[in-house]
Parts: sequence; C-alpha cells; structure tokens
Amino acid sequence: MIDLRSDTVSRPTPGMRAAMAAAEVGDDVWGDDPTVNELERYTAELLGKSAALYVPSGTQSNLCGLLAHCERGDEYIVGHHAHTYMYEGGGAAVLGSIQPQPVPTDETGMLDLDAAEAAVKPDNSHFARTKLLCLENTIDGKVLTTEQHQAARDFADHHGLGLHLDGARLWNAAVALGLSPAEVAAPFDTVSVCLSKGLGAPVGSVLCGTEELVAAARRWRKVLGGGMRQAGIIAAGGLYALQHHLDRLADDHANAARLAAGLDAVEGITVTGCDTNMVFSQLDQNDPTLGKRVEGRGVLADWRFGRSRMVLHLDVSEADVDKAIEAIAAELAV
Ligand SMILES: *Cc1c(COP(=O)(O)O)cnc(C)c1O
Repeated sequence: MIDLRSDTVSRPTPGMRAAMAAAEVGDDVWGDDPTVNELERYTAELLGKSAALYVPSGTQSNLCGLLAHCERGDEYIVGHHAHTYMYEGGGAAVLGSIQPQPVPTDETGMLDLDAAEAAVKPDNSHFARTKLLCLENTIDGKVLTTEQHQAARDFADHHGLGLHLDGARLWNAAVALGLSPAEVAAPFDTVSVCLSKGLGAPVGSVLCGTEELVAAARRWRKVLGGGMRQAGIIAAGGLYALQHHLDRLADDHANAARLAAGLDAVEGITVTGCDTNMVFSQLDQNDPTLGKRVEGRGVLADWRFGRSRMVLHLDVSEADVDKAIEAIAAELAV
C-alpha cells in the first residue's frame, strides 16, 4: 500500500530497528536511561537550546510546554486553527486551567498580530493573565519565515510574554528555508518537535527550551503520566531518525511537488496547495466512492467532501508517487 494519509504512518527502517534493539537502557524517571539522556542532549544541541525533555507524543509535549509557561488562570494566545488549540482535546484548558485566546491566522499560517495586540488583557482581576504566545511551523505544510518569527518575538518581548513554537514539523521548515533547525528555533523560549512523523521514528516528541522551563515541564510530564521507564528502546529510534533522516526530507518536498504537478494535470482534480511535504487538492465534483476505488489500486489517501490532503514521507518513493497519480487518474477517468 502507498499510504499518503499522513506522515505519522511512516514506519521504522531496518537500521532504526537495529539501533532500537541494541539500545542501552535504564530507568528514565530516575534519569538513568543513557539513550534518553543522549536523545535529549542531541536534540537540545540541534535546536540550540540548553535543555530538552523526551515525551510520548507531540500533544503531551505542547501541553508540558504550556503548563511550564502558564499557571491556573493564565492565558495563551494562539492561531484559531492551530494544533494546540483545535486538535489537542482542549488539554491546556481541561488539565491546566489555562484559557486559550484564539486569534485569526492569515493565508500564510501566521497569526494576526494586530488581533493578538487587541487580545492582550490588562492587569485587572476581571481578566485572565495573558502569559504566552504560540506559533506553529510548519502549519498545514506552510512555512513561516524568520521575519514572521521575529515579529512574534518582538511582540512577546513588548508585552512580557513567553513564546512557544509547536514545531512538530520544524525539520521540514528548516529544510524549506535552507536554515539549520537551531536558526529556526532561535527566537522561541520553548520548542516542541516530533520524531514520529516524516522522520520515521515510531514514538515520541521532544520539548526543548531553557533549563528552568524544561525542569518545570519535566515535573508536568510525570503528573500527566508521561514518565516512562526503559524508554531508551524507543528513544533510540528517535535518535537514529535525527542522525539519518533529516537531510532526506528534501526528497519528500520534491515528491510533493511531483505529486502536485502530476495530479494537477489529471482531468477532474485541482491542486489547491503544495507546501513542504503536503499536497492539497479538490475534486471538480465530489465522488464519495473514489477513496475506496483508489484504495483498491493500492493507494491510501484521505478524501473528505471531495477534498484531499496527501502527505509525503520516507515510506513513499518517487516511483510510488507516479503510481499514485496513475491510480487516481485511472479512477477519475471511469
Ligand atoms: C502531529 C502534531 C502534533 C502532535 O501530535 P501527536 O499525535 O500528539 O504526536 C502537534 N502539532 C502539530 C502541528 C502536529 O502536526
């Protein structure tokens, strides 16, 4: 099966599995797991931060970050369709008593700083205390620029706010911008990155930041049930991914462009967006059984209401892209 539903479906490679099988382990809650410690050291260095925390998921990583920045009755400003606001079960509010303040995002994925300005609350007992600004990069595959990051930093400094980046796919942003991960991460106090998407590791995310914020996040990880024991087994997969699969993300971006060009040439489908490793398209006419028929030809993709997001990752080759285009074209011609 050629699986384009998400980059989360990517599977560990044989080399990664060998590294996992050979990993030295210990009790990570005690700080004894050498592989987790090395993953945290390596990721912090890669992102130019002083500390890092290995967590089971990106959702928990963002939540630990929010809890480190904010207390009960505080507020974070966030884009209205950001992952931390829309797709994490409202965790900050549910578990942290932290109020989200959504503001509109523009077509580049950047949140509207004028709206954010209007949303910052004065110090008054009527209001939640505005503490944090959250950005996401990449967002729907789109890359925020360093200028946009800097504008957010200036805004946060002006209002005395912390600045968090949901960088689940920061690696893709770095490749697209031609910058190092540390350059992309530089303006932020905390950065969450995923190892289990296009990098191919089976489990895990890392929260990076200052010693102080990461120490607070470590406490919250335990509270949230994310303290794992011999986690070096899975951390080894993440470390292997960072050491071997970063540069190849450029291949996913090239494959996305190839898929977009191929699909756009097919009658009955229009590509509406292609950024980094994602391709968005729209059928000229909704065809509710297309997904099943294309699946019958060995291609899995998400088709809802005639719209599709296809995501490239290390288990999809250039030849697979051509097969996927052929399969979709064949079914649309029926
Ligand atoms: C995937 C993702 C996360 C976290 O996802 P988990 O499934 O919890 O690991 C966070 N933010 C963004 C933008 C994501 O794409």
